[in-house]
Amino acid sequence: MLAPKARPSPLPDSLWQALAAASPDGGAAVSTGAPLARDLDVEVAVIGAGYSGLAAAYALQKRGVGCAVLDANVVGWGASGRNGGVVSSKFRLSFPTIDQLHGLDTAKRMHRLAHEGVRVVESLVDEFGLTQARFEHTGSLRCAHTERALAAICAEADWVRATLGDTSMSVQLRAEVERETGSKGFVGGVLSKDAGTILPLEYLRGLARGMTLRGVPIYESTPVLQMHRAPGDTHVTLRTPGGTVRAKQVIVATNAYSDLTPATAPYQRELVPFRSAMIATERLPADLDARLMVERRSYTETRRMMKWFRKVDGRMLFGGRDAFGKEGQTTGFEGLQRAMVALFPDLADVPVAYRWSGYVGMTFNSLPHVGRSDDATTFCLGYNGAGVAMASLLGQHAAALALGETPELSLLGAPGLRPVPFHSLRAPGVRLVAAWYQFLDAVGA
Ligand SMILES: Cc1cc2nc3c(=O)[nH]c(=O)nc-3n(C[C@H](O)[C@H](O)[C@H](O)COP(=O)(O)OP(=O)(O)OC[C@H]3O[C@@H](n4cnc5c(N)ncnc54)[C@H](O)[C@@H]3O)c2cc1C
Repeated sequence: MLAPKARPSPLPDSLWQALAAASPDGGAAVSTGAPLARDLDVEVAVIGAGYSGLAAAYALQKRGVGCAVLDANVVGWGASGRNGGVVSSKFRLSFPTIDQLHGLDTAKRMHRLAHEGVRVVESLVDEFGLTQARFEHTGSLRCAHTERALAAICAEADWVRATLGDTSMSVQLRAEVERETGSKGFVGGVLSKDAGTILPLEYLRGLARGMTLRGVPIYESTPVLQMHRAPGDTHVTLRTPGGTVRAKQVIVATNAYSDLTPATAPYQRELVPFRSAMIATERLPADLDARLMVERRSYTETRRMMKWFRKVDGRMLFGGRDAFGKEGQTTGFEGLQRAMVALFPDLADVPVAYRWSGYVGMTFNSLPHVGRSDDATTFCLGYNGAGVAMASLLGQHAAALALGETPELSLLGAPGLRPVPFHSLRAPGVRLVAAWYQFLDAVGA
């Protein structure tokens, strides 16, 4: 666990940060930027100013419920300011697998929730006028690295079409994937039309600006150090360096960064944090720009230690999970660049301009969790690396739960905190599993 910090860490030196700095407002602070410096009484306190926390605050504000958002860092410091900006309509667990494990009705409900996530992003972008976030409903192409992987994703697309009546997935043959991506590294793919891309930090900053304009205070540089409810007290007291907050309800939206302070650390034990790294090249030469990723979608591949890529600002953005390194370390970036060049040999001489990483929160059942840890505290976390749309949705459902409503959550509803068994062994466990996955990927199994 990290010691509580007196000063917030700066935003990572990412492409998103550079684009925000170059935007018309020069990446200006989104809220007052001020830490909490007095005592406060609110109906609901939200901890964490990522998509989850701001979506929760949005849902509360719409219902006329007074709330305040507290973040240990500046808006965008967490995963919401670092991610790949892929807006997807799927869970890590496939819909046929959900059907096998939990039955068809559940698979249908989960399918609805997954697509609702994309609708929520669309409507927030519209409502808050977030043109700077450049949301595009591009679709996402899953590229198969072996015939076996292709057969598996085609079978999944067939099942979704035949059983759920979802025609948004279609198979692409090898030649089409090669034309579209510019890579010879794939044998075919499956296109999911209901997906898109966004500038993740602009999306988050736009939401934060909108919430501030609607009168919801966002206190940055305000770590919650302690959460406490005295026996018989109807309020929870949150202690921060500059003041205490008394709230009837608390929403914990700290995801894979929950161990920043002891107050939220118990929520980290729901998760196995996995480091996820990204690189962005310098602007591509015109001929390469015209040949690579011509449809401007997001792209993922079928290897277990999956890589993904898209084109932004005329640059190749390439990401992948790397369980071996720690955030802030430089390990993993060379491996990522090698993987990129293996798929796109033409990029061998294009320098990498930005390198950054962050933590994604994986869960044991591969699904996000939203629930109540007691009668005054609600949490949402564990997006398994696909949280742009899902956190935008589940933050709102967490707000509904905190107000005693019963939103449709299907398998995402958690009965309480369910710490990962043998949590202290998670780091070596993650390394072991990652090494095994890398081996299987390497031998093409
Ligand atoms: C490199 C990378 C690439 C990714 N790519 C994608 C992608 O392309 N598509 C996709 O859908 N998802 C992606 N994800 C996942 C996605 O970014 C996350 O699921 C999502 O941003 C989670 O949002 P959140 O609001 O729950 O958490 P975060 O955005 O991490 O916010 C948590 C906040 O809580 C604050 N906090 C923590 N503890 C305290 C405390 N005690 N007191 C006060 N504040 C506290 C932190 O400062 C932080 O700002 C990626 C993630 C990473 C790291």
